Amino acid sequence: MDISSILQGGYQHPLSRSWQAQRTLTKNMLMYPIFITDDPDAHVEIASLPSQCRWGVNKLEDFLGPLVKKGLRSVILFGVPLNCNKDERGTPADDPNGPVIAAIRKIRSLWPDLYIACDVCLCEYTSHGHCGLFRPDGTLDQPPSAARIAEVALAYARAGAHCVAPSDMMDGRIKAIKRALIDNGYGNKVTLMSYSAKFASALYGPFRDAAGSAPAFGDRKCYQLPPTAKGLARRAIKRDVNEGADIIMVKPALPYLDIIQDAKELASDHPLACYQVSGEFAMIVAGARAGVYDLRTMAFETVESLVRAGCTLILTYFTPDFLEWLDE
Ligand SMILES: [Zn+2]
Repeated sequence: MDISSILQGGYQHPLSRSWQAQRTLTKNMLMYPIFITDDPDAHVEIASLPSQCRWGVNKLEDFLGPLVKKGLRSVILFGVPLNCNKDERGTPADDPNGPVIAAIRKIRSLWPDLYIACDVCLCEYTSHGHCGLFRPDGTLDQPPSAARIAEVALAYARAGAHCVAPSDMMDGRIKAIKRALIDNGYGNKVTLMSYSAKFASALYGPFRDAAGSAPAFGDRKCYQLPPTAKGLARRAIKRDVNEGADIIMVKPALPYLDIIQDAKELASDHPLACYQVSGEFAMIVAGARAGVYDLRTMAFETVESLVRAGCTLILTYFTPDFLEWLDE
């Protein structure tokens, strides 16, 4: 037998197996997505997203306190307004009394070191449920969409967010947000994380249930990327790097590992994030409940595959579980 054909000597021990990883999952790499609603006392389970809830601002201390103690370092906030007057331009998105801005202030006051990212989009706040603004002929109107999204991002920055993360996929919004941050004195205070390669995926169902953000007509295929579009994803990543994004994100994660690897190459000097989305999480939990695999083993296998592909930041609903599992 050829001497170099024997590999098993290199990973016969749990410790030597751990050395085979080029990067290891740590608590710092986890960002927890949380849903904030406008009833300050809300604690409402989301049927299609196991063990996740919509939270009111008054409940955040009891909800997040134990997680911060276990090593939670960052959250990303999604606003779920249920009692606001939605309109064409998403006016409630930057309402100073809205749930996201109230939550930023609350979290900053409770845990000054907890890193707060805010998802920035209009779809939870527009009457039509889309992520941009429309011309009278029903097509997307790019310049006012980017301008409006930049206004919302700036409002979250002013409220104290450490990071703004536009998920709308409107062309030109990264440049517009970066310009607004710089012009208003937030250029060196706030991170701009772009959902650069966000695909029109079947895996967003539970999120729409959680956020109440299904579009009133049509779908999002004119702005989210077609799942087959590797070239378009590469162009979007390069564009967002050039427009001033500080972090690049790929979403969803598991079906797009090749895109994550491409992003690692194209944005090699940037942190790379991915979002293990609601449908991926629900699918993994459902498979475990059906006896297909062990939940923890599968959660590690999927998230470690994202680390292996190049991610240094992972948005996942498994964050509370990993905070425990990584201690064992
Ligand atoms: Zn949206």
